[in-house]
Amino acid sequence: MLDVFRRIYGSADGIRVFRAPGRVNLIGEHTDYNLGFVLPVALQLATYVATTPSSDARLHIYSEHKQQMREWTIAAIPFLEREHDWTDYPVGVARELIRAGFAVKPANLLVRSTVPEGSGLSSSAALEVSCALALLQGRRIGRLELAQLCQRAEHNFVGIPCGIMDQYVSIFGQAHSAIELDCRSFTHRPVYLPESAAFVAVNSMVKHALAASAYKDRVKECITAMDHLRQHYPSAASLRDVSLEEFIEAAPSLPDLLARRARHVITENRRVARFVEAASRVDLQEMGMLLVDSHRSLQHDYEVSCAELDFLVDTALTIDGVCGARMTGGGFGGSAVVMLQPNAAPDFESRMIAAYRERFGLTPQVYPCRPSSGAGEVTNFETIAAAG
Ligand code: ADP
Ligand code: MG
Repeated sequence: MLDVFRRIYGSADGIRVFRAPGRVNLIGEHTDYNLGFVLPVALQLATYVATTPSSDARLHIYSEHKQQMREWTIAAIPFLEREHDWTDYPVGVARELIRAGFAVKPANLLVRSTVPEGSGLSSSAALEVSCALALLQGRRIGRLELAQLCQRAEHNFVGIPCGIMDQYVSIFGQAHSAIELDCRSFTHRPVYLPESAAFVAVNSMVKHALAASAYKDRVKECITAMDHLRQHYPSAASLRDVSLEEFIEAAPSLPDLLARRARHVITENRRVARFVEAASRVDLQEMGMLLVDSHRSLQHDYEVSCAELDFLVDTALTIDGVCGARMTGGGFGGSAVVMLQPNAAPDFESRMIAAYRERFGLTPQVYPCRPSSGAGEVTNFETIAAAG
């Protein structure tokens, strides 16, 4: 990374490197913006941002992946308009830093990432958090404040009303465990996964254009569903406050579509708790079943899956040693997460690839999911070299 940095910016004197991981969400999908529960794992796949101070009054940023250099004068940052491209993430973060009272100083940034883009493994939060740390250049900020600042960048500038999960786990993720996050209290606890289970992410290599608008629609639908449910349960502030029994009681008064959206969120919150409990008992069968139930709920009630994700899940479930599988991330493409037993068919990967290729003409990428630590400064430059 040093060589590339020197080639682009001339000198790497005073260079610092910050890392923020992508994540795979094991269960608890579309529950975060409903203030419910999620169970993500920070991944070894991560975004690295190398930075040096710049002597002009500008912010320069180069993305290796995009092979694009962009720059702005620092003074112009608060007034920039959204460009509907990758620079919206770093610019959005810079604007929120300034708004929060952290001066953004002239700097050169180089972005390198091993998180596949648009894959449902949250390359976007990895980009936001790593850029925020690089722009802070070691200045202290609370970890929750950082997560919320990056979330605001996505809300206010990128234009996605996302929940807190992706930014939170990129910062608070832990090596060796998943984290169960309560998206209302912003607290989490580690959840150790059975050593006898492995998780892999299978990237469908598609992201349908519908994804962003459908996400916004679902956020609105949940708000409207809550407006209906609050007539029955005035003290309920979000869908997590409505029990399944209460929901069943009130469901007939909801339009069918809203009832199905709410049912997904309410049952999904329960599945997170049951999955965590099954993990503590090393009940792989129950864990696997919950993953499949989650997928069916996302497929039929929440309607955020797609033919490619359904195919990946259904294909995985035909392979020996697969405990369960589901789509992960916002949906309409991205990845499926598959839970495997140690005795899983050794040819799992090749069978998935062959079947998917035959059906869709695309080669899915398969990533082992190794829990890794949350974002921070990287001082061991060999780590970065190894990252590609
Ligand atoms: P996901 O977060 O699941 O990967 P998103 O659609 O939320 O998918 O975010 C992907 C977007 O993030 C990309 O379209 C791009 O704008 C930006 N992005 C991610 N990684 C990089 C990178 N290494 N360089 C530049 N932009 C990136
Ligand atoms: Mg994202």
